[in-house]
Amino acid sequence: MKSSILIIYTGGTIGMKTDPETGALVPFNFSGIYEEFPLLKRLNVDIDVLTMDPVIDSSNVAPKNWLELARLIRDNYPRYDGFVVLHGTDTMSYTASAMSFMLENLSKPVVFTGSQIPIGVLRSDGRENLITAIEIAGARIGNRPMVPEVSLYFQNRLFRANRSTKRSAEALNAFRSYNYPPLAEVGVNITYNRPAILQPADESPELRIANRLSDGVVVIKLFPGLDERTLRAMLSVEGLHGVVLETFGAGNAPTSEWFLHAIEEAIGRGILVVNITQCGGGKVSMELYETGLRLQHLGVLSGYDMTTEAAVTKLMYVLGKELPANETRALLSRSLKGEFTA
Ligand code: ASP
Repeated sequence: MKSSILIIYTGGTIGMKTDPETGALVPFNFSGIYEEFPLLKRLNVDIDVLTMDPVIDSSNVAPKNWLELARLIRDNYPRYDGFVVLHGTDTMSYTASAMSFMLENLSKPVVFTGSQIPIGVLRSDGRENLITAIEIAGARIGNRPMVPEVSLYFQNRLFRANRSTKRSAEALNAFRSYNYPPLAEVGVNITYNRPAILQPADESPELRIANRLSDGVVVIKLFPGLDERTLRAMLSVEGLHGVVLETFGAGNAPTSEWFLHAIEEAIGRGILVVNITQCGGGKVSMELYETGLRLQHLGVLSGYDMTTEAAVTKLMYVLGKELPANETRALLSRSLKGEFTA
């Protein structure tokens, strides 16, 4: 039986082609996908296309776009076996991470992809990314989908969405997953890493989506020279609810009294602080050095080996539930969709 796939085009480089008259890059109309890529007919899938209105450069993405995308997937969920989301690469890992949390009880593939070179340019990486993403979204094992989670496909690798990060503005293999193995590697064949793929519960309840994301989340990246005035100004922004604290190495921060006091006061005001490392690889172990331990004692939560993208979107998602403080802390301390390894 053929799989049916919905492609959702949100914007970004992948959707551009050169206007033969002007030579300028103009958006490509994905609804004419079969005319443009007749080879797609050879894939064992039925494809429909939806284009977001308006399409946007992903640097303009905001949480309201994530709510819209989640609703679109929910509304079309019963009709399709899988979804391919075409997205600008710049913030693709943020949107894909957000979807991994917001699509609760997901049991179908949602594959994000894009390209570094517009699809209408001869040397584009977009065609391969698109075709393989479609194939992955439609892949089955028996009558179950092969990858029933939110993933990101780019240049021969399929990553767990909330483990991915854009690491190059130049290379065609623009994405990395430093702390989790690829879900699939693509060569002559697509080799799935089945033990690494999230599986829904056998009796998977219906898809539900988050209807609210919290604002008031900020990322504070430590650097030698960050002063008290700046830190306090950031922590006293009105409406602040959550801080992703990007620390050094294994989760370390200065032990100066003013620094620790500022963090302690913020936590005392009910602000949640999640500690992640600025290093791409490895994780936060606050008990390792005194500089980490002091944070732990203040009530800073470990983000283990989470990416910034996952930490920000998880905070928005969890805080958006408006649960009592102890439940919020419990959700933040647990891996919800395989976003960290403790
Ligand atoms: N600025 C573009 C975007 O993120 C870049 C891309 O798609 O690769 O929308």
